[in-house]
Amino acid sequence: MADFGANNLDAFWMPFTPNRRFKAHPRMLASAKDMHYRTPEGREILDATSGLWCVNAGHDQPRIREAIQKQAAEMDYAPCFNMGHPLAFAFASQLAQVTPEGLDRIFFTNSGSESVDTALKIALAYHRARGKGTKTRLIGRERGYHGVGFGGISVGGIPKNRMYFGSLLTGVDHLPHTHGVAGNLFSKGEPEHGAHLADELERIVALHDASNIAAVIVEPVAGSTGVLIPPKGYLQRLRAICDKHDILLIFDEVITGFGRLGTPFAADRFGVTPDLICMAKGLTNAAVPCGAVAASGKIYDAMMEGADAPIELFHGYTYSAHPLACAAGIATLETYKEDDLFARAAGMESYWQEAIHSLRDARHVIDIRNLGLIGGIELEARPGAPTARALEVFETAFDAGLLIRVTADIIALSPPLIIEKSHVDQVVETLRGVL
Ligand code: PLP
Repeated sequence: MADFGANNLDAFWMPFTPNRRFKAHPRMLASAKDMHYRTPEGREILDATSGLWCVNAGHDQPRIREAIQKQAAEMDYAPCFNMGHPLAFAFASQLAQVTPEGLDRIFFTNSGSESVDTALKIALAYHRARGKGTKTRLIGRERGYHGVGFGGISVGGIPKNRMYFGSLLTGVDHLPHTHGVAGNLFSKGEPEHGAHLADELERIVALHDASNIAAVIVEPVAGSTGVLIPPKGYLQRLRAICDKHDILLIFDEVITGFGRLGTPFAADRFGVTPDLICMAKGLTNAAVPCGAVAASGKIYDAMMEGADAPIELFHGYTYSAHPLACAAGIATLETYKEDDLFARAAGMESYWQEAIHSLRDARHVIDIRNLGLIGGIELEARPGAPTARALEVFETAFDAGLLIRVTADIIALSPPLIIEKSHVDQVVETLRGVL
């Protein structure tokens, strides 16, 4: 048996991390408060990524902390199979007040990946319950990220997520991504060009036939593949084509939910209501793992009426609606509301936009894009060494007291919604220096 000392780094197989590189030069976080992390040596790190796009209300919010502590002392766990606990119903009801009108049936999961797989399964089960069991094909998009479950990587469009785990990824097709359309470089907000790319869905429908297609899933704004903002009118067009062919539209709002775009959901910002919304991350301010799928009444009712078994949706998790997650989630929704954080994000958007676009003349920068409190800064890749420059920027920024996220050669920024102008200035000035 391996005998790792208590402080040895070998036993933890780290997720989405070059393990050998990290373990040679570890980078640790020890505590967090509001906009900052602190390292074990006591160095302050400004968090420009809300952890991993998830601590939307800022770190260590007292309401959330206290709600978790109270709940832990009261009831640690309760199953939700064939029984319930009051907080689960309360959390679902309160969440249904925040989701777009009509999307008021809530299924709880524990992560974004689980929310995506849950939404895909609901889409398949829904069509079957209506006697349309041939509608099984799922349509994703190139450069989409929908977590790491087999459903999510199937509809996702990240080559590395697909190349290593390929054999189960069948029954899907992909829309083209919306990025790199001529005339969109350095766009502020939604880019002007590219709405026509939604029409590719008509081509896919013509190829497979609508009778075989269950759902289209997209991130309204794609984050993990480098901040791809939808062209003006694109999501509206997808909605119209889905309606025309009785195809469900799923928004994966794992990163766009809970104020990231200055509205509760991206659906609100774009004025496009999907049939299902996947969420996680900001749902509990990341204080306890939790995800959810919001489904329309149309879907829920069809399942209740048409399912051919007493358990209408044969799906669920041991930890669906975990009491600590529900307590954290309710306190998170209260925090967003009482501190008016979504409006706060909206109020900061133009300052944020101008600040990050001021990096246009910084070294290596080839594009900048933004929406809400999201920013993407694309760097010219080092010849023969793609991703190396961004990784170096990430490491140097960390040493300079700034936490950013990089993907390929793109810096992705998504600060907590409590960010102040002075923090925005610090983000930009640190990055300028690092570049
Ligand atoms: N979907 C989107 C759009 C995401 O950005 C992520 C994570 O970043 C996920 C799904 C997966 O969420 P999780 O890591 O909680 O499984």
